[in-house]
Amino acid sequence: MTSSLSVLFLASEAEPFVKVGGLGDVAGSLPRALRVQGVDIRLVIPLHGTIRRSEYDLHPLTSFEVPHRGGPIPAEVYTIELDGLPVYLIAGAPFRPDVPVYSDDWGFDAHKYIFFSLAALELARSINWQPGILHANDWHTAAAVYWLALNRSSDRLYQQTASLLTVHNLPYLGAAGGVPLGAFGLPPASDSPLPEWARHLPLPLGLLTADYISAVSPTYAQEILTPEFGSGLHEFLSTRADTITGILNGLDQELWNPAFDSFLKSNYHPADLTLREANKLILQQEMALPVDPGVPLLGFIGRLNHQKGVDLILEALQDLLELPWQIVFLGSGDPVLERAIQQLQLDHPTRVRSALRYDADLSHHIYAGADALLVPSRYEPCGLVQMIAMRYGCVPIARATGGLKDTVIEKAGSHTNGFIFAEAAPEALAEAIRRALTLYSDRPRWKALQRQGMQCDFSWEKSAREYHLLYQKLMKERHP
Ligand code: ADP
Repeated sequence: MTSSLSVLFLASEAEPFVKVGGLGDVAGSLPRALRVQGVDIRLVIPLHGTIRRSEYDLHPLTSFEVPHRGGPIPAEVYTIELDGLPVYLIAGAPFRPDVPVYSDDWGFDAHKYIFFSLAALELARSINWQPGILHANDWHTAAAVYWLALNRSSDRLYQQTASLLTVHNLPYLGAAGGVPLGAFGLPPASDSPLPEWARHLPLPLGLLTADYISAVSPTYAQEILTPEFGSGLHEFLSTRADTITGILNGLDQELWNPAFDSFLKSNYHPADLTLREANKLILQQEMALPVDPGVPLLGFIGRLNHQKGVDLILEALQDLLELPWQIVFLGSGDPVLERAIQQLQLDHPTRVRSALRYDADLSHHIYAGADALLVPSRYEPCGLVQMIAMRYGCVPIARATGGLKDTVIEKAGSHTNGFIFAEAAPEALAEAIRRALTLYSDRPRWKALQRQGMQCDFSWEKSAREYHLLYQKLMKERHP
């Protein structure tokens, strides 16, 4: 590795080891893309109980203890190289086999991820590797940024290290983090521009002390400065506006490529969209829907919660019963929403199907087989599903917020790649679906729309270059 830029990249999840949502996609691909650009970046994730160790050739690397008021907690680190990227996986008592990646026990999750954050810093010390940049992601690893700010001046290894904290989802602040932070020796930030209630929570403390903050899309970087999206931190974040930037996530072009996707029975690319049609029939069959190439097939993929606007879909569809459509839901989450989807399926057995689970195979089948994907999120820091959908010729119908606004374009002319609506209301979504269904009947124009989406460049290369430039800027500022 020739670059002098060394980056310790911390995340709670990363493909291919463990993925719950978009953060797993990002942490799986961004470090590899940066490595290609010559950055000596190393990825650190927890060795979660859900990771199947036997699938990976993990080598023991080092072990040490993380100081804790209740007694030091032993950590063991394993390593593996992934396409040239060194990956370090941290094991320890908080990551017992029965513990999920994220749980409802906020206090325990905070304990677990603060342990992880501090162990990741200790790991670099243990292998005597000096990171120029500490790049943390979301609340799970924000405690590392805070530790760095508190200890940098007296710590030989980290004296020169700059920090970047990327916000993938602001509302998750690390609730119940105060007590565990204290137990790991991290005091609240009294007398700071943070609101009182936020002074002992991991993400706000990271946002307070990071040298730079990035959000995962330019629009989200602006939105978090407003009362609607700022999770109570907008006034504080506005004081940091000159150190906040937005960099859109990219897509793993190999993983998400309809021309080579091994989950698909019929591969295709923009020049031969007729090959795509088989995937729709296969999906209808797989989901036991009436097999009909002519009926517009809608899809939804994502966590079932308020953020994703699933309730808006359920209401909007009631307004559209006079039109032909089918829909497949894939996702799990809020039991109320799960039951509502099941009820919709009971009410409309020839139109609605759901798979209330996480299912990677089926997600590929939906991207390749559905005609349009509904993404009516109330907020969406970046959103990957709309980008994946476009790459697969599945036209997104999305709300104009965060990364959806930055990637889905509906306007006169050749730039249109989907349908977009402004208000988080069922009527607005229904209206956008209507526009889509109208265009769907004009086959040549619909195909042109599919192709337009498929040709958009959502590769990591461009975004990685922006992170690379940001790292360089941070290094320059720390070593003027
Ligand atoms: P978020 O990070 O908020 O969950 P994103 O749109 O950024 O949403 O990323 C979601 C990622 O997780 C996408 O890769 C999507 O395909 C995948 N995904 C979400 N729900 C499911 C599911 N139930 N089964 C399979 N993949 C899913």
